Amino acid sequence: MSDLDPHPAETHCEPVSGPGPVAELHPAREVPLGGVRGTYVERTLPQRDLPTVGAWCFLDYFGAPTVTTTDAPPDIDPHPHIGLQTVTWPFEGMIRHRDSVGSDVRIEPGQLNLMTSGRGIAHSEYTVPDAPAGRGLQLWIALPGGHRGIAPHFEQHRDLPVYTVPGLRATVLLGSLAGATSPAIVYTPLVGADIRMDPATTAVLDTDPGFEYAVLVVEGTVTVAGIELAPGPLLYLGTGRDRLALSSTTGARFALIGGEPLAEELVMWWNFVARDHTEIVAARAAWEAHDTDRFGDIEGHTPEQRIPAPPLPGLHLKPRRRRSHS
Ligand code: MN
Repeated sequence: MSDLDPHPAETHCEPVSGPGPVAELHPAREVPLGGVRGTYVERTLPQRDLPTVGAWCFLDYFGAPTVTTTDAPPDIDPHPHIGLQTVTWPFEGMIRHRDSVGSDVRIEPGQLNLMTSGRGIAHSEYTVPDAPAGRGLQLWIALPGGHRGIAPHFEQHRDLPVYTVPGLRATVLLGSLAGATSPAIVYTPLVGADIRMDPATTAVLDTDPGFEYAVLVVEGTVTVAGIELAPGPLLYLGTGRDRLALSSTTGARFALIGGEPLAEELVMWWNFVARDHTEIVAARAAWEAHDTDRFGDIEGHTPEQRIPAPPLPGLHLKPRRRRSHS
């Protein structure tokens, strides 16, 4: 994905300690992707008062049944990233991913696709002719300070651990959940899981009290922390929970994300995750200058296909801070 808001704001993320157990609903907002092509996604991270959950800093649901659709294919032309990992997890359909480290792969359900931008990468995400349209999640994970400058790389994992208890089946995409650990490379303690529950079931998941967690439902409904959650908003659960009681009458499919609250300041703008305004300015300038030392080249694309960087905001916006939990 590329953030194609024509006037993206800078998001400052302050270091925080955990708020303890909370249960807050954060609504999804519909955001256009693909510029003139007019594709929309439902975005639940970042939120104005919840910029991150662990190192998770971006959560888009693409192809959601409730989202505005257009006739145009949701192709995302070449665009850059710095300072993050992108996680693409389709539920349906197929996506052709190409990037500047030489990847040209098809992304299908059941495959975790993890692109680590490090200091800089460019990629494109296209529909596949005659394949069904994609529906799934794309998330971004902020890289911690010590790993922001690493070389870019791409991983595809087809063999992911599955944690099961009666009525519940959790595919662990990233990090660890209840003793099941994904082979995908991450740089901070976190978890991302795709969880399915059968109708008329209850289950208890062991969780890490040092992590903060959030849940996004994509099918059915599930009751978490006393809140019956349907597709749409993100339920933020805070920290301090060593277990999560879940129940579902309808059956459900949902994403669980979590991690240690990020102890670093972030500045997010467009497709970049940085630490200060200067880094954003430099990355934008390098993309606009076609700096292939920084962002490489994607085979099969012309320079004209590159998505131009939007204009920088004319002034420093006020930092976005988490709501205080005093
Ligand atoms: Mn992208």
